[in-house]
Amino acid sequence: MVITRFAPSPTGDLHIGSARTALFCWLWAKNQGGKFILRVEDTDRERSTEQAVQVILDGLTWLGLKWDEGPIFQTQRFSRYKEVAKQLLADGHAYRCYCTKERLEVLRDKQIAAKEKPRYDRYCLRFPHPPHDDMPYVIRFKTPQTGSLSFNDLVKGPIEVQNSELDDLILVRSDGTPTYNFTVVVDDWEMNITHVLRGDDHINNTPRQIHILQALGAKIPQYGHMPMLLGPDGKKLSKREGAASVLEYRAQGILPEALVNYLVRLGWSYGDQEIFSQDEMIKLFNVLDINSAASAINPEKLLWLNQHYLKTKPPAEIARELAWHLEKSGIELSKGPSLEEIVLVQRERCKTLVEMAQKSEFLFQDEVNVDESFLNKYFTQEVFQALALLIEKLTALANWQPELINQTVKEVAEQLSMKLGLIAQPIRIAVTGSTVSPSIDATLFLLGKEKSLNRLAQAIELKNELYSKRVDSHEQEP
Ligand code: GLU
Repeated sequence: MVITRFAPSPTGDLHIGSARTALFCWLWAKNQGGKFILRVEDTDRERSTEQAVQVILDGLTWLGLKWDEGPIFQTQRFSRYKEVAKQLLADGHAYRCYCTKERLEVLRDKQIAAKEKPRYDRYCLRFPHPPHDDMPYVIRFKTPQTGSLSFNDLVKGPIEVQNSELDDLILVRSDGTPTYNFTVVVDDWEMNITHVLRGDDHINNTPRQIHILQALGAKIPQYGHMPMLLGPDGKKLSKREGAASVLEYRAQGILPEALVNYLVRLGWSYGDQEIFSQDEMIKLFNVLDINSAASAINPEKLLWLNQHYLKTKPPAEIARELAWHLEKSGIELSKGPSLEEIVLVQRERCKTLVEMAQKSEFLFQDEVNVDESFLNKYFTQEVFQALALLIEKLTALANWQPELINQTVKEVAEQLSMKLGLIAQPIRIAVTGSTVSPSIDATLFLLGKEKSLNRLAQAIELKNELYSKRVDSHEQEP
């Protein structure tokens, strides 16, 4: 069975590069009917935080990347790493090294001065007895000295490294804590990982890890190293662009499907198809099709995809995300209409959920502020009359349905021989406080009968007040 794993270190946000790695691991497991494991590599206790763990869990959950096993925390497996280190020592694949920091520094300086690659000189392998018994020590791996190691990277192709290039790396530090290369190996081995997909910043670790796996008699997984993401200009991703975390995209009003679809295309393609449903992605994904050239991020494409999913995703699902945004801005959902109805009306008009939430806030407010300048500009005597008639007719409506509302507005216009356009804008202003909103019938429908009538009446009242103020001040003039 194919078993993949996503193995983040919880030291910060879940950035899009990591999210892409998680997605590819998840897709390959799903494509192969396999298993996707979440492993939290939290051995760096100083830099790992619980909050960062939560961000990872929340980010993956929001993206819909469900793990089949885990989260497994490496800090909870320390005793197992110790046992394996003991076994390696017993089998002669590792040795204790008592060299002091000072000795290693002198050695390093000498090697650099002699233009040699700095590496440990195996002093403690040659003289295995400590100067005295309670000297602290590290455990080093006995890396083969001759020959080479090769593996066929699923993304980059064949890779060969001379063993003479590799140091006897430390498996366990003097304080007893295991190192990254060691914990990864033990875990990949014991979790029966078949495919290791990760960023190519780890490619230099792979030969070292394979050596340790071989010493343990473990089956070697297949490795695929993905190139880093580039900025929109094809240059190195800037801190700001690269720092954008998955949850920040959520806050910017992106739908999870859009982000997943966007990420899958960063480094993988299927002909020139751009839009993939989750099922399609799973069916079509193949690790062998991961691009070996780096991909550039493209924020415009993400927006385009977001619009696509806003228009096509089931309204109930979009409504759930919209609720998150509205509540985030302090809106009480019980004060407004059904979110699904809002989605149906607004989805063609918005690029993001933030925009949708902002454009829908008026539906939840107790009242709206209507700007005086709007009243002066749009509320002529004629309009005034029309609004009064409209209130009368709308009050009599038995069914608050868009078609009936539309018909009523038309009737008012006809009865007063006014152009429809002339009354549409004042109605919009009265009920939304703004000059932009969905069609009048949809706006009034969403707002509901009571709020619509109240706001229309309030606008008339406001205009009346303005008018009488003006009359007063006019009368007072000499
Ligand atoms: N914990 C490592 C990281 O976050 C990943 C290691 C791996 O995938 O082997 O970079």
